[in-house]
Amino acid sequence: MTNAPFFITKAILKEMITHCQNELPFEGCGLLSGKNGIATSIWPMENISYSPNSYSMDLKQIEEVFDLINKQNEKLVGIYHSHPTDRAYPSPEDITYNNYPEIAHIIISFARSSTQPDVSCFYLRGTRVIPLKVEKIKEYNI
Ligand SMILES: [Zn+2]
Repeated sequence: MTNAPFFITKAILKEMITHCQNELPFEGCGLLSGKNGIATSIWPMENISYSPNSYSMDLKQIEEVFDLINKQNEKLVGIYHSHPTDRAYPSPEDITYNNYPEIAHIIISFARSSTQPDVSCFYLRGTRVIPLKVEKIKEYNI
C-alpha cells in the first residue's frame, strides 16, 4: 500500500526548513494552512519550551494564527516541528501529547545533516503512527 500524499509547495517547504534551521539547537515549530488540504501558507511559531528535544506553542499565539487562517478562508492542514538530533519519526511525547489526529504532522530531522534535513509526515491517531508521503508541488492556484 502506498502512503497517502501530503501536498506542500516547494516554497513553503523551503521556508519551513529555514525556520527550523534558524531555531537550532532548539526544536522549531509552526503551523501550515491552505485550501483543499494543500499547504500554501506557513505560520512559524515560537517554541516556548526552548528545548532541543521538545516543543510547545503559546496558546495565545495559536489563537491569533487561527484567526488569521480563518480570515484567509484557509484551514489548518499541518503542524511542523524539528528534531535537531533525533530521526524524522514521532517521539513518544509527540504521540502522547498530540491534540490534532486529523492534521498532518511534519517532522524535519537534522540528525544526518543541518543543510539537507530529512522531512517526513504522519497522522498521529491515538497510538497509531500513519505515514504520509510528502508531495512537493511547484505552486498552487485556486
Ligand atoms: Zn518531535
